[in-house]
Amino acid sequence: MKFGGSSLADAGRIRRVADLVRHAAGQAPRETPVVVVSAMGGVTDRLFTLARTALAGRTGQGAALEQVDELRRHHERALDALCEGAATEDSRGEVDVRLAAYFAELRDIVIGVSLLGELSPRSLDAIAAYGEKFSTLLVAAALRAADTPAEAISAEDVVVTDATFGNAMPDMAATTRRAAERVVPLARRGVVPIATGYIGATPDGITTTLGRNGSDYSAAIVGAAVGAQEIWIWTDVDGVMSADPRLVPAARSLPDLSYAEAAELAYFGSRVIHPRTIVPAVAAGVPLRIKNTFHPAHPGTLIATTSAPGSGAVKAVTAIRDLALVTVEGLGMLGVPGIAGRTFGALATAGVNVLMISQASSESNIAMVIARREVAAATRALREAFALELHRHEVDAIRAQEGVAILTAVGGGMRGTPGVAGRLFGALGRVGVNVIAIAQGSSELSISCVVRDDHAVEDALRAIHHEFVEGAL
Ligand code: ASP
Ligand code: MG
Repeated sequence: MKFGGSSLADAGRIRRVADLVRHAAGQAPRETPVVVVSAMGGVTDRLFTLARTALAGRTGQGAALEQVDELRRHHERALDALCEGAATEDSRGEVDVRLAAYFAELRDIVIGVSLLGELSPRSLDAIAAYGEKFSTLLVAAALRAADTPAEAISAEDVVVTDATFGNAMPDMAATTRRAAERVVPLARRGVVPIATGYIGATPDGITTTLGRNGSDYSAAIVGAAVGAQEIWIWTDVDGVMSADPRLVPAARSLPDLSYAEAAELAYFGSRVIHPRTIVPAVAAGVPLRIKNTFHPAHPGTLIATTSAPGSGAVKAVTAIRDLALVTVEGLGMLGVPGIAGRTFGALATAGVNVLMISQASSESNIAMVIARREVAAATRALREAFALELHRHEVDAIRAQEGVAILTAVGGGMRGTPGVAGRLFGALGRVGVNVIAIAQGSSELSISCVVRDDHAVEDALRAIHHEFVEGAL
């Protein structure tokens, strides 16, 4: 079970989390949940801010240490509220000692960063990791205050990763061995393990993070490593929705999705789970369930190998906004092998992530969609890569059109069903939305198209949702 920062925003919410865990722990006699938590809401951001503050000249160190102290008071206040009235004086003492030790380490690291005047990705990970270390202590204390045995664990002792600081990748074999030593025996004894999300460590013990919002991913890693029956991601909505309800009022919660559909949705901007969460779950064959902390009776969304055939061909529709369409075009590209390879090679070298690709079969134009903030880097890299071709007019232009969005309609039911694209573009045409580019993966799980990033996005989302999802009711 994973709980995110908003479910841990204050003592009241942490108590609610403890209740949910306790309820699950009491369900079947020989079943114990393993819990993975994020930092308390906002804490990771504050750690990033204080890390940068430490670098700011002569006054930086004092200001950063002041921010550390504020964070300490924030956690101590929550801990006081959680332990109030509970007959757990001894365990409170132990939590105080561990919390004080963490804060002392954090102060030392901040002083080190400030003295050296340098904040490497490795140091930033060391600092960012404290949010989860603090929150596990609080959640474990809340459970013990409610007479449920629990123990806080740092994933530095469990999740073994490579040394890509800020975006580390797990070594599942090593992690599974560690989980068997460190996590499973606790659960067997009926002690609920409360592990840090978001973080891990290299084989030699250097702290890493899995990237922002990585706790979902952590939950899947830990769930796969311990051989969980299901991985539950507790969030603040009733599972995965058929569309963003702020944009599409008729959006509804989806009872089930296949792993492939969920991956497609997670990638294409439905912010319910971190896109990489699916990977360990699929590999271990463990179903994922998305549940609402504020509405625990709702079944949420089950994500597993196969989902029930949807009522319609399209189950959900999402949009990613604030993008740009970059095109490489020229009649001289016709039939010349290697243009696409060099295009994407140049973008990869410049660190630009490509979200969607389309190429007309005339081969005179390759279009790709990237984040708008990467336009300058992308066009520079492409102009360099094709300098000779541009000079010879084999490539005529490298253009960028900003202010576009990708719309993606997802559903395994469209595979082999003729007419889905026709209905989709028909719906867009009826609301006057112009389609700039189109792509469909050959897995036939999704259709994506590029439209202008203005009111057209909302019109298009509603039109597609109406055509497929509401129509199917
Ligand atoms: N606390 C981390 C973050 O804010 C990880 C997470 O919340 O999933 O990015
Ligand atoms: Mg979060």
